Amino acid sequence: MMPPVSGNTALFLDIDGTLLDLARTPDQVKVPGELLRVLEKLDQQLHGALAFVSGRSLESIDRLFAPFRPAAIGAHGGEIRGINGEIARIAPLPDSIREIFAGLAEHIPGLLLEDKRCALALHYRLAPEALPVLTSAMERHARLFADEKVHILHGKAVIEARPRGIDKGSAVVKLARQKPFKGRAILFGGDDTTDLDVFRILPQLGGRGFSVGKRFPGAEHVFETPRAVRQWLGRVAEGGVR
Ligand SMILES: [Mg+2]
Repeated sequence: MMPPVSGNTALFLDIDGTLLDLARTPDQVKVPGELLRVLEKLDQQLHGALAFVSGRSLESIDRLFAPFRPAAIGAHGGEIRGINGEIARIAPLPDSIREIFAGLAEHIPGLLLEDKRCALALHYRLAPEALPVLTSAMERHARLFADEKVHILHGKAVIEARPRGIDKGSAVVKLARQKPFKGRAILFGGDDTTDLDVFRILPQLGGRGFSVGKRFPGAEHVFETPRAVRQWLGRVAEGGVR
C-alpha cells in the first residue's frame, strides 16, 4: 500500500527513473507540462516541503524544471539547496580523477562525461559494449581513488565518482533538519542503486519510501513505471493535501 500524503508530509523525490522516463542521454529526458503543474501545486500544498534528490547538478535540475525551483539535493548530496535558496556545496573532485574520466570519455566513442565539479558521471547508454573497459579502468585506478577518498558507483548505464561519505542518504538527513522539512513525516521515492542510501536511513528518520521498477528493501510500495508515479502525484495534488 502506498503511504498517504498529508499536510504533514515532507516529499523527497528522485528525478530520473522516478519522476521522468529515462532517455538515451540525460539531456534528452522530457518533463511533461502536466508534471510541472502537479509538482508546483504539491509544493504549495506542502508549504515548500518538497525536495528533489538527484544525481544531477542543481543547475541541470533547474534547467529541466524551470521556472520551478524547489529545495533540492544535487550531485548525490554534493549540493544541497534549502527552501530559502541558499546552497551548501562540497569541494570539487581533484583534477587527477577528472583527468581519468575525461580521458575515457575522449577515447571511447559514445561515452558522455557529465562534470558536476564535486562529482563526475560517465554515461555509457550509447556505448554499452564499453562497460568491461570502463570496469577494468576503475579497477586499475582503485589505489588512486582510495588515496583521494573517492567512491566509484555503478548506476543505470552510468559510472560515477564522488567523495566518500557524500550520498543521498546523508544529504536527506541534513535537509530534513531544516525548515519546513523538520518534524514532518518523510516520504521518499527512488529507483536506482544510489537511492538505497536513502532507504537505509529512512527508519532512523521515521520515514517511509516507495521504489520504481523493482522492490527496494524498506519500500512500502513499488510503482511499475515513472508514469505510474506521475499519475499518483497527479491524484494526490488533485485531491488536495490535508
Ligand atoms: Mg533515479
